[in-house]
Amino acid sequence: MNNEIPKSDKPIYCPLCANTEMSFYFTSQYNRQGYKNYAYSLYKCDKCFLITIFPPPSNKIYPPSRDEENQYSAAHDFPWNKILLNTIKKYKTSGEFIDIGCNAGYLVQAAQTEGFSSMGVEIDEVAAKEALALKHNVLQGDFLSMNFSKKFDVIVMNHVLEHIPDFSKVPEKLHEMLADDGVIFIHVPHYYGLISTIMKNKWSTLAPFTHVWLFSATSMQKLFKNKFHRITIKTNTATEPHGYGIDLKTNIKTAIIQIANILSMGDEMRVILSKK
Ligand SMILES: [Zn+2]
Repeated sequence: MNNEIPKSDKPIYCPLCANTEMSFYFTSQYNRQGYKNYAYSLYKCDKCFLITIFPPPSNKIYPPSRDEENQYSAAHDFPWNKILLNTIKKYKTSGEFIDIGCNAGYLVQAAQTEGFSSMGVEIDEVAAKEALALKHNVLQGDFLSMNFSKKFDVIVMNHVLEHIPDFSKVPEKLHEMLADDGVIFIHVPHYYGLISTIMKNKWSTLAPFTHVWLFSATSMQKLFKNKFHRITIKTNTATEPHGYGIDLKTNIKTAIIQIANILSMGDEMRVILSKK
């Protein structure tokens, strides 16, 4: 067991609050998703409650050599794609659709089937290759440095923002890409949720090996308020598996998930942005 606490030897400043040093908050070891005793510390801004994970992931996108579990996850149609698409359809039922950080492009394909003109962007080469093999309409690269010839009616960033080391250019880029009456859907993990608070270092979604940021509602507002007129923030418990057993543990977990949703303390934050 490695007992060394990872600490930054330089001050870490909050990227959202001028001249505000983030304070040492929490240290632990992560033992899920194939990782053993992965030591990390959390630093938190006392003004906007944005949290950063230290040390920052060595490869900010994915672990340098992806294991079989991750290879599999690239080629997997996640169950929440359908849920997300149903939410989107309450706002838009057709038009130009882009999924930024689309993995193998299953949501892109599903949106196309539902009547959108859809495309995806994926920075990870393994996932983008998988998308190509599946004939999903996906470009490999960093959306921040791409020029798009059209405006989008729907922009999705599903569990992407927490991976981007420098998110300062994101609001401006999204604003530029969005049609005047378009809608943006952003989902991120919510560390201030009930389940994450109870589970602490056992919360799978913390994923300190790949996440740079954990957002609070305040920090999310702060990031986008200058570029978007309407910002809706909700939480939902979606990232921790709900379990399908009938044992006591599953029942307790189900009850906690219901309470968390009532208290707006779900473990996923869902943000909807529009220009007006
Ligand atoms: Zn801050």
